[in-house]
Amino acid sequence: MTSVAAEVSPDELQALLRGEVIGREDPRYEQARKVYNAMIDKRPALIARCIDVADVQTALAFGLQEGLEVAIRGGAHNAAGLGSVDDGLVIDLSPMRWVRVDPNTNTAVVGAGCTLGDVDHATHAFGLAVPMGVLSTTGIAGLTLGGGVGYLTRRHGLTIDNLLGVDMVLADGSFVHASEDEHDDLFWAVRGGGGNFGIVTAFTFRAHEHSTVTGGPTLWPLDRAADAMAFYRDFLGQADDDLSGFFAFVTVPPGPPFPEHLHNRQMCGVVWCHTGDPVQAAAALQPVREFGPPALDGLMELPLPALQSAFDALYPSGLQSYWRADFVSELSDEAIDAYVHHGSRLPTPLSTMHLYPIDGAASRVGRTDTAWSYREAKWAQVIFAVDPEPANADLIKSWAIDYWEAVHPYATAGGGAYVNFMMDDDQDRVRASYRDNYGRLAQVKRTHDPGNVFHVNWNIKPA
Ligand SMILES: Cc1cc2nc3c(=O)[nH]c(=O)nc-3n(C[C@H](O)[C@H](O)[C@H](O)COP(=O)(O)OP(=O)(O)OC[C@H]3O[C@@H](n4cnc5c(N)ncnc54)[C@H](O)[C@@H]3O)c2cc1C
Repeated sequence: MTSVAAEVSPDELQALLRGEVIGREDPRYEQARKVYNAMIDKRPALIARCIDVADVQTALAFGLQEGLEVAIRGGAHNAAGLGSVDDGLVIDLSPMRWVRVDPNTNTAVVGAGCTLGDVDHATHAFGLAVPMGVLSTTGIAGLTLGGGVGYLTRRHGLTIDNLLGVDMVLADGSFVHASEDEHDDLFWAVRGGGGNFGIVTAFTFRAHEHSTVTGGPTLWPLDRAADAMAFYRDFLGQADDDLSGFFAFVTVPPGPPFPEHLHNRQMCGVVWCHTGDPVQAAAALQPVREFGPPALDGLMELPLPALQSAFDALYPSGLQSYWRADFVSELSDEAIDAYVHHGSRLPTPLSTMHLYPIDGAASRVGRTDTAWSYREAKWAQVIFAVDPEPANADLIKSWAIDYWEAVHPYATAGGGAYVNFMMDDDQDRVRASYRDNYGRLAQVKRTHDPGNVFHVNWNIKPA
């Protein structure tokens, strides 16, 4: 689809919507067009802030009538900036920010504009939690549609493994509910296949009884990094699903609660989460302390939403960020050497590498049960190069690429990555990320979006 229609007036669409429509002349435009990653600088023709399904249907029909490319925006967190489009129409769902928790059925219905923090806020009041990610500012929509990896993945599976249904506006403007019982082809495809099949306006999730957890970081000096990584590999591989933790290379932030003697030091560590009671957690985590002792032991009992927002302040919107990713099934000692070599050379204080566990409950779902194919992988890895300074964009980018090239040979066979952690990978990598599921996804795409209206995403082409 091509279009420029760069000077489309917002007035005609505004007359039809309850939400705000922002054009290029609007004083709110510069703020409204920003996405999380400041490396992305897109200038849409119109931004339609939809407040309900009717707004979404109307905005989509208008965009198609005007020949505009359409991007769907949830939390705007996508590293590749796929929530926006140059010269096109952004259907911005961020005003659809509501949650309805049903404590009788342990379910939550969530508006597509919610952040993870919105969902946590609402469910925590009932002692419930939906498995999501590690930063509360991320959008629930993009995260869920790509898969959803976080602290509860080993315990309860990916976010999509806890998805019970979606409300969607399809390319032809129709509205459907997709679940195991209705439009099951769509329901299969949206569980990992991204925003390719329609605009999701609400998600229904299964929630679980969790209130507080034992969590936080343990950090070790870099000269223990290879041992720490090997310990982490062996220890977590044997641990119950109650325990999770992502491995990271980090620079200790120069402020409280971190002790002064560690400020600005590059270290490695794990951010843990144990969902059992504190006594069980202490016993389960004892080997971590025995392996150490850690230079920093930040383990404590805390509300799950506190853990899931603990790093928000470090990673605000507006930073330059560049991502590379892989799936990892085995961490050989040789692979660890490569990880440590590059992980010990972080180019800027916020740059990092994370290995997120996706084994446990997530690995007990079949590889064709949802669009997410890599059920045998043990980690979703991401090399996350970050700095506030635009002048450092090339520096962080080349570090991430060098790191990725060194460790990619040790990645899970198939060549794919978690789509939500990809940035400028090409279409071949998308196909590789779905492996055998790609053909079925392309069929679903042909049925529901034969014209590829929804292509501002990791695009699955209609079969
Ligand atoms: C700092 C940071 C931390 C992160 N941590 C995690 C983590 O812990 N776990 C994890 O799994 N991921 C994580 N992510 C990745 C995150 O899942 C993706 O960036 C995801 O795309 C964000 O969703 P969003 O709604 O905010 O994005 P947006 O930029 O708004 O949209 C992203 C994509 O989703 C599509 N989309 C959005 N909303 C809809 C909708 N309602 N209907 C159809 N398509 C839609 C868009 O078309 C676009 O292609 C993190 C990202 C960042 C930047």
